[in-house]
Amino acid sequence: MRVHFWGVRGSLPAPQLPSQFRSKVSAILERLTADDIKTPENRERFLATLPPWLFGTVGGNTPCVTVSCDSTRDMIVFDAGSGLREFGVAALKEKPKRDHFHIFFSHFHWDHLQGLPFFNPAYDPSVTVDFYSPMKNLETALHGQMTSPYFPVHMESMGSKKTFHQLADPLPLGDLMITHKKMNHPGDSYSYKITEGERSFIFATDTELSANDFLKTDENTTFFNEADCIVLDSQYTLGEAIEKYNWGHSAFSLAVDFVANWGIKQLILFHHDPTYDDRKLYNILQSARWYMERMNIKGVEILLAMEGMEIQL
Ligand SMILES: [Zn+2]
Ligand SMILES: [Zn+2]
Repeated sequence: MRVHFWGVRGSLPAPQLPSQFRSKVSAILERLTADDIKTPENRERFLATLPPWLFGTVGGNTPCVTVSCDSTRDMIVFDAGSGLREFGVAALKEKPKRDHFHIFFSHFHWDHLQGLPFFNPAYDPSVTVDFYSPMKNLETALHGQMTSPYFPVHMESMGSKKTFHQLADPLPLGDLMITHKKMNHPGDSYSYKITEGERSFIFATDTELSANDFLKTDENTTFFNEADCIVLDSQYTLGEAIEKYNWGHSAFSLAVDFVANWGIKQLILFHHDPTYDDRKLYNILQSARWYMERMNIKGVEILLAMEGMEIQL
């Protein structure tokens, strides 16, 4: 399985502000010496010394994560945030053409839908798009955002072969098995788990972890126990999570406790707050790793979800 991140931001898109860009350039120039630009090799060496929050960005698009695997050309997509537009552009360039997409929705808040009208492959009559959600209003929710006065193009204008599936049972797709689980979020949200042989991946955005999620019930154990990787809502610092109780998102430290509780091997911090700049997000990553060490949690790798990042499972 290959997991690719196209949008990692929560709540609404958060492009880099001109002031943030200027302060990055300024901070880079402060570090620069005449020696650093003497040769192309020196320049590359200098760039390699810059911290990732300065040389790069976490990205501003809202949630969209794709999963591909060797056993099929079909592409699995989790959520249709603004990152879906970028994925659509990349998919159209692929050769041979990718012509079957399975799009799973965690829920229908705007940040998880807003990329769909801009997903170019969905307008191609030779393409098949299957939409999935355990929620019964899947089709009306997707049509609803492509209706006047909100958007000038109706979903019927998407020429692809579209099918809407209300999920109830585990879904086999080729060699993959996809299961879902209801999570704690205003209006509910759903997590998805893909299992391929011995490997498993969980997409769990927009969830406010609670004591129930830590209980060793059969349902929790089957879904979470010893998964290889989880993309997990970790929008807040602990202080904010207390302030924003019942807003439907989790603190990064609770996300660390959660993966330790379930023996999950890799934690990818996700659904970044739109008000956090790159430096703050890297501070959160450092804090999460520091917290893991302090709690003496072993065998867990913690990463920050970034646009363009790809992991292999
Ligand atoms: Zn969200
Ligand atoms: Zn939400």
